[in-house]
Amino acid sequence: MKTFCVIGLGRFGSSVVKNLIEDGHEVVAIDTDTKKIDNFKDIATHVMIADATDERVLKNIEIDKFDGVVVAIGKNMQASILTTMLVVESGAKNVVAKATTDVQVKVLTKVGAGKIIQPEKDAGERVADNLAHPDISDYLDLSADYSFVKMKVKNPKFANLTLNQANLTQDYGVNVAFINKTDGTANIGKHDTVISIGDTLYVVGIKKDIEKFSEII
Ligand code: ATP
Ligand code: ATP
Ligand code: CA
Repeated sequence: MKTFCVIGLGRFGSSVVKNLIEDGHEVVAIDTDTKKIDNFKDIATHVMIADATDERVLKNIEIDKFDGVVVAIGKNMQASILTTMLVVESGAKNVVAKATTDVQVKVLTKVGAGKIIQPEKDAGERVADNLAHPDISDYLDLSADYSFVKMKVKNPKFANLTLNQANLTQDYGVNVAFINKTDGTANIGKHDTVISIGDTLYVVGIKKDIEKFSEII
C-alpha cells in the first residue's frame, strides 16, 4: 500500500483518485472547491479544502512524504504551474502533472515535473492509432523510434513454424520478446516455440517495421 496526494478533482483528478483507492492505496485529495471536496469525502482517505498554490498548505501536509503527487489542475494554467513548482521544490517524489496545452507541457517540463499527461491529446492519439492499425491491440513507445507492441497471429503462412523458422528478425526486423499461446503456455520468445493462429505476440522493433509486420502477421 502506498500514499498519494491528488491536487484538483476535475474529471482527470477524480479518475486518478478512484483508481488509486480501488487498488488499495491511501489518497489525500485537495481542491479549492467545497462541492468537489464534498463529493469525495467518502471516497478519498482524507480530503482538504485548500489552495495548493499556498506553500504553507503543502508544508502542513508534508507533501514531500507521499509516494507520488498528481497535480491535476488543467485549465487554470497559473495555478497548475505554481503548484507543480512548489511541489517539485519541496522534494516530492514522482510528481505527475496534467497539462491542457503544449505550452503548458513545456513550462511543466522546465519546472521539473517527472511526468506530464495531456489526457485529451493522449487519448486522441490512441484512438487514431487504433483506427489506423486495428491489428495492434496495445503498444508502448520505448523511444522516439522503437515500440513494444501486442498483436495476434492471423496469417496461416506463419502457422506451425518455430520462431526460428519464421525468421522474423531477418525478414521483418522485429523481435518477439514474449509469446502467449492459445494452448495456455507462454515463454520469452524461445527459438523453438511453434507459432499457431491466435497466439499473442509481444514484439519489439522500429515503429515502421512493426507497423508493416502487424499487417502481415
Ligand atoms: P478535467 O479536464 O480533468 O476535468 P480541467 O482541465 O477542466 O480538468 P479544472 O476543472 O479547471 O481543470 O481544474 C481541476 C480541479 O482543480 C478543479 O476542481 C479546481 O477546483 C481545482 N483547482 C484549481 N486550482 C486549484 C488550486 N490552486 N488548488 C487546489 N485545487 C485547484
Ligand atoms: P475536449 O475535452 O476534447 O476538448 P469537450 O468535451 O470539452 O472536448 P467541446 O469542446 O464542447 O467538448 O466540443 C468539442 C468540439 O465539438 C468543439 O469543437 C465543438 O465545436 C464541436 N461540436 C459540438 N457540438 C457539435 C455538433 N452538434 N456538431 C458538430 N460539432 C460539434
Ligand atoms: Ca478538460
